[in-house]
Amino acid sequence: MESLKGKTAIVTGASRGIGKAIAVKLAELGANLVLNYRSDSKSVEDVIKEIESKGSKAIAVQGDVSIFSDAENIVKKAVEVFGSLDILINNAGITKDGLVLRMKEEDFDKVIDVNLKGAFNCIRHAAPVMVKQKGGKIVNISSVVGVTGNAGQINYSAAKAGIIGVTKSAARELASRGINVNAVAPGFIQTDMTEVLSDKVKESTLNSIPLKRFGSAQDIANMVAFLVSPSADYITGQVINVDGGMVM
Ligand code: NAP
Repeated sequence: MESLKGKTAIVTGASRGIGKAIAVKLAELGANLVLNYRSDSKSVEDVIKEIESKGSKAIAVQGDVSIFSDAENIVKKAVEVFGSLDILINNAGITKDGLVLRMKEEDFDKVIDVNLKGAFNCIRHAAPVMVKQKGGKIVNISSVVGVTGNAGQINYSAAKAGIIGVTKSAARELASRGINVNAVAPGFIQTDMTEVLSDKVKESTLNSIPLKRFGSAQDIANMVAFLVSPSADYITGQVINVDGGMVM
């Protein structure tokens, strides 16, 4: 894969799971990393050590992406410390599952605020920097359930479908400025988020995956690394499923 030497990348929700794998992968390719996290400063310090051991630079920036001024601060810190912003990965996400007949209003709002508005907030602050620099790459982490819907996830599916709208609209607006915006839609990836699901749900999900295995965070990181590389310069406004064939 092509070198990202000299590029600066923000990864939101980089303390664990998919965000951590993306951050480590981009660092392996030479990028300087801004690791956003919400609460777990100990884990993010470990990610910094791992990145530094690979010879790249990383800083951590605490912030809740659903708060507009926190997103502004993440972008500000990237430019202050590394002097540029070339790559934004909107990865931070949460679930608060429940059937529509029982879902609390605040559980709907919270999931939309973090997963969907969080991505808008970061793009809103990163895009002007990228426009000024005359280029950049943005990747938003959606989900296959944003395409198919999922019982028990009306809030999360809506947010992840919204991310697809954000991706396509931003791609159309920013293409003339040399900024590519794409989405990755993971299937079932083994992280803390999916660890909490029951064995019954895991088994029925596995049966729906043609490649007959759950995905790894690395599977998603590999696709993101491609999308932010010069090899993907002619790709924008796309939603790429990385799901073992779950959705075709
Ligand atoms: P995870 O293991 O639960 O990690 C979530 C990350 O997001 C953590 O670093 C967490 O930070 C951070 N975060 C949560 N709320 C935040 C906020 N308000 N502001 C900033 N950071 C916040 O989740 P994951 O499985 O790696 O998922 C990563 C992304 O992939 C999410 O967008 C998720 O929806 C999407 N996805 C996952 C799967 C899957 O099967 N796992 C499938 C499809 C899509 P703290 O630790 O500090 O809270």
